[in-house]
Amino acid sequence: MVNYKDLGLVNTRDMFARAIAGGYAIPAFNFNTMEQMQAIVMAAVETKSPVIMQVSKGARNYANATILRYMAEGAVAYAKELGCEHPEIVLHLDHGDSFEICKDCIDMGFSSVMFDGSSLPYEENIAITKKVVEYAHKYDVTVEAELGVLAGVEDEVVAAESHYTKPEEVIDFTTKSGCDSLAISIGTSHGAYKFTPEQCTRDPKTGLLVPPPLAFDVLEEIEKKLPGFPIVLHGSSSVPQDEVATINAFGGKLPDAIGIPEDQLRKAAKSAVCKINIDSDSRLAMTAAIRKHLAEHPDHFDPRQYLKPARENMKKMYIHKIVNVLGSDGKLAQC
Ligand SMILES: [Zn+2]
Repeated sequence: MVNYKDLGLVNTRDMFARAIAGGYAIPAFNFNTMEQMQAIVMAAVETKSPVIMQVSKGARNYANATILRYMAEGAVAYAKELGCEHPEIVLHLDHGDSFEICKDCIDMGFSSVMFDGSSLPYEENIAITKKVVEYAHKYDVTVEAELGVLAGVEDEVVAAESHYTKPEEVIDFTTKSGCDSLAISIGTSHGAYKFTPEQCTRDPKTGLLVPPPLAFDVLEEIEKKLPGFPIVLHGSSSVPQDEVATINAFGGKLPDAIGIPEDQLRKAAKSAVCKINIDSDSRLAMTAAIRKHLAEHPDHFDPRQYLKPARENMKKMYIHKIVNVLGSDGKLAQC
């Protein structure tokens, strides 16, 4: 049993309260490799932003949960080495699907966990979320819950279609479950193919797909019911079209990959949305840089040669999100 406080990590409570009051959102970046971790920490330190490093079940299977925990501990030490005396780094479990996996993460030093019972019947979602909250709060770990269903594919999380969160349920759900933040469904989606071409219109000039807007009316309703309560948006990658174009230009095949426009996310960040999850954009930035590098340097075979530009490209993307989309730059409580 190790407590996250001994690892120099923080929970989400204070940073979310400040984010809601300040009209910005905290970035939640998924990671499972050293290069992603380094890029996240470098970006957070350079911009003086709090950051959530999150780990999905798939990441735990890929990299091993213990290794990821030590990487997060290393992230705190690395941030300090880079000159940030008081980093605010959260280690968060993304889409925990049972009480056991949440408990396991809490016991090994996670400072925040998500229990995703969105596919369960309503009462069962409340019951398990409550059980996770009771355990987590003993150790001052914060808990994210989910209500409503997001479409898309992310690791093991698969849903064919989305169901918007019902505003009339949110007071009952958060009161009974005791969760600290709530992930809602207002039209974002997991993965790099967030919308089918049929759901979109096409820009006549560029030929690119234009996705349908997020349901800001549903978000407003939820905010009215839960004033000041931290809201979370999953599936909020923008799927940068320049990265998609690079991937496709160097042998990739991602036709019609599309994400959430950044102006929509910026608008959401100014509301009670205080955590925005970004995973696919990091995958795309990494893959684009690696494909380009290997195509241009067919004689290279040292992973450092192509992972270095991959790391640079991810760092650039993270900084862009922090500064231009979420607005969390310069928001550390202490520098
Ligand atoms: Zn998600």
